[in-house]
Amino acid sequence: MRMYDLIIKKRDGGTHTKEEIEYIVDGFTKGCIPDYQMSAWLMSLYYKGMTKEETVWMTMAMADSGDRLDLSRIEGVKVDKHSTGGVGDKTTFIVAPVLAALGVPIAKMSGRGLGHTGGTIDKLESIKGFQVAIPEEKFIDNVNKHKLALVGQTGNLAPADKKIYALRDVTATVDILPLIASSIMSKKLAAGADVIVLDVKCGSGAFMKNRQDAEALARTMVDIGNMAGKKTYGIITDMNEPLGCKVGNSLEVKEAIEVLGIRDINAEKPRGIKRLLEVSLTLAAYMLLGAGKADTPEHARELCEEAITSGRALDKLAEFVKAQNGDEEYIYNPDKLPKAKYIVPVHFPHSGYITACKTSEVGMVSLILGGGRTTKDSEIDLAVGIDIRKHIGDYVSVDDVFAYIHADNSDVISEAEERLINAYTISDESCEPEDIIKEIII
Ligand code: URA
Repeated sequence: MRMYDLIIKKRDGGTHTKEEIEYIVDGFTKGCIPDYQMSAWLMSLYYKGMTKEETVWMTMAMADSGDRLDLSRIEGVKVDKHSTGGVGDKTTFIVAPVLAALGVPIAKMSGRGLGHTGGTIDKLESIKGFQVAIPEEKFIDNVNKHKLALVGQTGNLAPADKKIYALRDVTATVDILPLIASSIMSKKLAAGADVIVLDVKCGSGAFMKNRQDAEALARTMVDIGNMAGKKTYGIITDMNEPLGCKVGNSLEVKEAIEVLGIRDINAEKPRGIKRLLEVSLTLAAYMLLGAGKADTPEHARELCEEAITSGRALDKLAEFVKAQNGDEEYIYNPDKLPKAKYIVPVHFPHSGYITACKTSEVGMVSLILGGGRTTKDSEIDLAVGIDIRKHIGDYVSVDDVFAYIHADNSDVISEAEERLINAYTISDESCEPEDIIKEIII
């Protein structure tokens, strides 16, 4: 087999065999296929696409390119969730303790963030003492004992994806649906869970800007998961504004703790919290359903609600933090979390209804404040971020505080303020916000 011939085959609209896909993935990972040939092949996928079979073979080849996490020593059905990425997404901190409190084992492997805020691991490091680098033995033991443990991504999980993604990033070949699907699913399959729930974000702050693309991505990933023998659900959720009210590392941990502190599901809540709660409960319910601990999504949801309102999920979060050397007091007293030096109220220059948000821009504001990384090695400021008090559909007058900027460096405040204001559209006409849960793909 020659890579040159395979590039021509795809360029001319052909369909690869399983052996050809394996040859390409394996050859590139081992360094036998050079970057320039792989780039040409990736670009041909942009124009010619991949069949469902090709996408599944590509996913399997990438998942098998390195270690697969062995979770067989963990008792029970192991469930994992993945979000395709958005702004203010802190659902892991809510969903994982809810499931663990209901007896479902969560063996979570998470990454650090590159971009607008840190990843799950960075956020957890706002809790004093919390350790992510725990040995595999302790990780497995902790899941068996506490039903929840979290580690950083191991170096050798789907190395083919790591190498291919790095090349896609510099060759304008990131936004190719089958490649996004196979990249995400190869890592999920290698991470070993039996059930996978995918939160596919849709809107101005997401990879997939429109419903049609989000549905296609969700469908492809759900089919890959099911074909690989994993029960997989795709939940399409709105990302036309940040999820919840808070964007930034310790701010997001604080907001998750606030949600786990809810004692009455039906009590009046800020719109941002309602949306965050809705996404979290929907993801948690499908995870519980997949684990076989409920008969219907409605029953699963009731159980998840009860795990929150009884306080059991909050206690589980504290137990998990303590088991990984963190100070559990941070969970019961979140004022201990890192705080920024300056908290600056932001007002809109004129009154009206909020009708749209460039969500990625809000993420950029967090980055400017120091809450995210511009390179893999940059330090992040865990304390900074944005606390948004008004959402799409709300009326704001010039006197209302629309948001608070949390900053440690006074030099960046005015730029952050200007960009935050410009990220929103204010209109005289009122509008209804989009449904937060758009579709469930099974
Ligand atoms: N996230 C991934 O892991 N891979 C992609 O290709 C896109 C988003």
